[in-house]
This record gives sequence, structure tokens and C-alpha cells, in this order.
Amino acid sequence: MKFVQELRTYETSAGAKVYQIPMEAFPGLLTFAYLILHQDLCVLIDTGSGYGESNQQLVEGLQAVNKPGSSQPLKFEDLTHVLITHGHIDHFGGLLEVTALSDALVGVHELDRRNITNYEERRGFILRRLETYLIEAGVESERRDYILGLYRYMKQLFQSVPVDFVYSDINMQLGEFEFLHVPGHCAGHVVIRLHDLLFCGDHVLTDITPHQSPEELTHWTGLGHYLQSLDRLEEWAIGIRLTLCGHKREIKDLTSRINAIKKMHMQRLETVMEFFESPNTVNALTDQLFGSADGYDALLAIEEAGAHVEYLFQRGMLTIENYEQMENSIEPYPLYYKRH
Ligand SMILES: [Zn+2]
Ligand SMILES: [Zn+2]
Repeated sequence: MKFVQELRTYETSAGAKVYQIPMEAFPGLLTFAYLILHQDLCVLIDTGSGYGESNQQLVEGLQAVNKPGSSQPLKFEDLTHVLITHGHIDHFGGLLEVTALSDALVGVHELDRRNITNYEERRGFILRRLETYLIEAGVESERRDYILGLYRYMKQLFQSVPVDFVYSDINMQLGEFEFLHVPGHCAGHVVIRLHDLLFCGDHVLTDITPHQSPEELTHWTGLGHYLQSLDRLEEWAIGIRLTLCGHKREIKDLTSRINAIKKMHMQRLETVMEFFESPNTVNALTDQLFGSADGYDALLAIEEAGAHVEYLFQRGMLTIENYEQMENSIEPYPLYYKRH
């Protein structure tokens, strides 16, 4: 069996069996789905991307587990529910295949439902916002076309599928699974708790800080929401023994990981304030923070920088030096931020 790494198993304090299924969502991006067997529920949390070998690795992960009380391997048909942590394609892209082969009920948070059910429309909508954002960030036209081209390419990877319920329909609870909305990294991100285990998608990760994007591209994202969600999770997750993530290793000490992520963002905010001692663009800041990123990383880098600028601008700590042009024209143009 050719796993990108071996299948790991866990057990909750009340005896639910958990299987961590590894997939290569995109080249070099290791992503996990989780299969959980508890009472009469057979739940899959996230599905991988559907890209490349990802679906095949998901199928093999299920097949490595036997149906409860049987020596037959599990199949998509045996799933009762698919729970999506958030509307990023490396977590829901596999739905296209899963929903074709099973009657499992698919759930997602209401703020990310359209990412799955209105995929094409949302892509087009965000593309327009992204173009304006890149112009205002000071990205020159050739590089802008390159970044927008990468975004357009993502459009071909999925097509809309229906979902069966949103988590508020079930009062944020399914059997003994409990949900908490943690917007920031994604608008409708949830973390899911079962007994003493937490499934946290991309909200908290080891080794890397989860990607941030400015709220001007999608409502309910942005660094402000994200930092608030870290605080909410810290309070909510008391008694959690182990946190299982969408990427990277599991987290044993969630509180100290949350504090390290908060500290890193505070330091970055200070760096951003220092950078804007003299007026400059988000694009120049991105080069300073991340160097010359290529491929999809180029988009991620300029979103990350912009999320920090937006946070400070919204709080009046940065101002736009050339704001007066805005009053004369609605056409976007490069904005020069400076420290207030
Ligand atoms: Zn994500
Ligand atoms: Zn992810």
C-alpha cells in the first residue's frame, strides 16, 4: 500500500476509534483526513483535494480499516457523515468523488457552504476582488497577471456539489461531536471536538502559522477575527488531550502553541510598523517579509502581508499617504501606507 506516510490511529477517552489518513493534496503538501468510528456513526472529517493521487490515497486509507464488526474493508458507501472543517480545496476537493459514491450527509459551516455549492461563482467573484487588491498593493501588471492566472487555474479543480446541512442546523452538535466556529484562516472554519480529542483543520498548526488573508477579499477572514478565534478556542478546549490537524504533526500542548502563534503575529505587526516608517506599498512589504516567492506561494505571501497591513490600517495605526487621489477617481491605484 503506497501511503505518503503510514496510517496513524488514535482513541478518544470514551473509546472512539480515530484513523488519520495521509494524502498528498498538492505536490509537496501533506494533508490529513480523519475517519472516526463511534457508536453507529462512521464519520470522515475532510476529504483531501481530489487532485492527483489524493482520492486514491483516501480510498486506500478507508480500505485499511475494517467495517465495525466485520472483516470487510470500509468503503465510501459505509460513511454516515462527511464533516468539512473549512472551505479550502485541500480539505473539501475530494467531495466530488465521495459524494458520487456514497449517501453520507455532508456538513459545513454556513459561511463556507458557498465555497462548495457555488464554487464557480465564488471563484469569479474573488478573482475580481483580488485584481483590485493586487493593483492597490502595488503589484505591477505582469506579476499581477501571473498571480491571477494561478488563481484561475484552481477553478478547474472542482465543480459545485450540494451539501446536506450546515452546523447551525444541528446546534453545533452531532451525537457526541461538538463544533466551534473559529473564523479567520477561513470564514467558516470550525474545530470539532470528540471527547478529549480536537480536530482543528488549519486553525492551529505545528511548525507553521496558518495562512492569513485580508478580510477585504472575503468577509470573516482577516487577522482580527483569527486572533479572536484563537482566544475563543483556548477557553473552549479545556480538557483536550491531543489536537489533530489538517497538516503537520499533532499538538500535545494546545495553549502553548496558541500563544506561540499569537506572539509571532504580534512580532510581525511590529515589523510591519517599522517597515512603514517611510511610505511604501504592500508589495514592497511582501518582498521584505518573504523575499521573491513563486507559484502559489506568491499569492499566499501577498495575502499574508496584506492581512497584517489591513489589521493595522483598520485600527488607525497605519494611514494611506496618497489617499487624496481616491476622492477624484474610483479606479484602483497603488496605495502607499505609512506609520501614523
Ligand atoms: Zn486552509
Ligand atoms: Zn489546509
